[in-house]
Amino acid sequence: MKKGSKERQAKAKDYLAEIKALAQSPYTIMEVCGTHTVAIAKNAIRELLPDTVRLISGPGCPVCVTDSSDIDRYLYLAAQPKVITATFGDMIRVPGTDKSLQGLRAEGADVRVVYSTQDALELARSNPDKEVVFLGVGFETTIPTVAVSLEIAKREEIKNYSVLSMHKVVPPVLKLLAVDDQLAVDAFLHPGHVCSIIGIKPLEFMAGDYGLPGAVTGFDALDILEGIVMLLRQRAEERSDIEIQYQRVVRAEGNPQAKRFIEQVFEPVDASWRGIGLIPQSGLGIREDYSLWDAARKFSLPVFNSPDTPGCRCGDVLRGLIYPTQCPLFAKHCTPMKPVGPCMVSTEGSCAAYHRYAQKG
Ligand code: SF4
Repeated sequence: MKKGSKERQAKAKDYLAEIKALAQSPYTIMEVCGTHTVAIAKNAIRELLPDTVRLISGPGCPVCVTDSSDIDRYLYLAAQPKVITATFGDMIRVPGTDKSLQGLRAEGADVRVVYSTQDALELARSNPDKEVVFLGVGFETTIPTVAVSLEIAKREEIKNYSVLSMHKVVPPVLKLLAVDDQLAVDAFLHPGHVCSIIGIKPLEFMAGDYGLPGAVTGFDALDILEGIVMLLRQRAEERSDIEIQYQRVVRAEGNPQAKRFIEQVFEPVDASWRGIGLIPQSGLGIREDYSLWDAARKFSLPVFNSPDTPGCRCGDVLRGLIYPTQCPLFAKHCTPMKPVGPCMVSTEGSCAAYHRYAQKG
């Protein structure tokens, strides 16, 4: 637990005492979001909980769930002449079938790390003789900014900017988890950032249809402990609701303006998730009105059919079926310095978090 005021420590003690009192029998909670996984590991929350409460990681790391075929597709594009690939830093070292963006860059491809879509747009403005392609990887949290960049590109007629959309949305994968016979989960810590955009309505089916309680939780250690308390209280009261712990950021209705931007620019499409497979309507494609800025159409990109990295069990980690430490390659053949799969590359990846903070699982 990170250092804090006496009040914070007292609060944490109270939450832990209540968790202990409420968790008289086993209870398994999935933390959906990669940022939660990192916060839980960093604050050693697993170690503080009674043995009856089990936390397992879910599919909420956008880099990790990007399918091998999508990775090979953007690597193919990045190798084309006159293309500048603009990407967030996490994607650089993700291995494709033969190489990563880092490897391609060493061979001369123009790959730039950007910190925002505004940076990518600026690259396009300052390189009019090149094609700047932004790699759109992320969930509802980041999608609105990508939508805004496409709207700006359209308005300003920045014709050498495009986006390769590999975006994914969270509710369909949750539905898949809810009906997964192999997965034994009692409740969910839902992603605070995603819900700040979509609100809680799209998640209510989890509680209503499947009896799986949820707490939309923030990312501080106290937030996470309070989220766990809220879930255990629901069990004690025999309720199943989606509640908001992260009230300082999340509104039940979400962010209507951000949702409007997403709707305006993107439309639901089927999408493949690493290790999970094709999930209907779980991705976002670029609408016809913005097709000139859609890299897949603009470059007539071929569709790849690439297998997942042999031996890597990222898919099982993302579905909550194993802890990262149960992958035979963990910390032996797969480390952050020499990652085999994306779950070890991404800062939000479960394998990287378990490795960095020596989690046992
Ligand atoms: Fe894949 Fe490495 Fe994680 Fe194993 S430890 S699941 S090989 S990323």
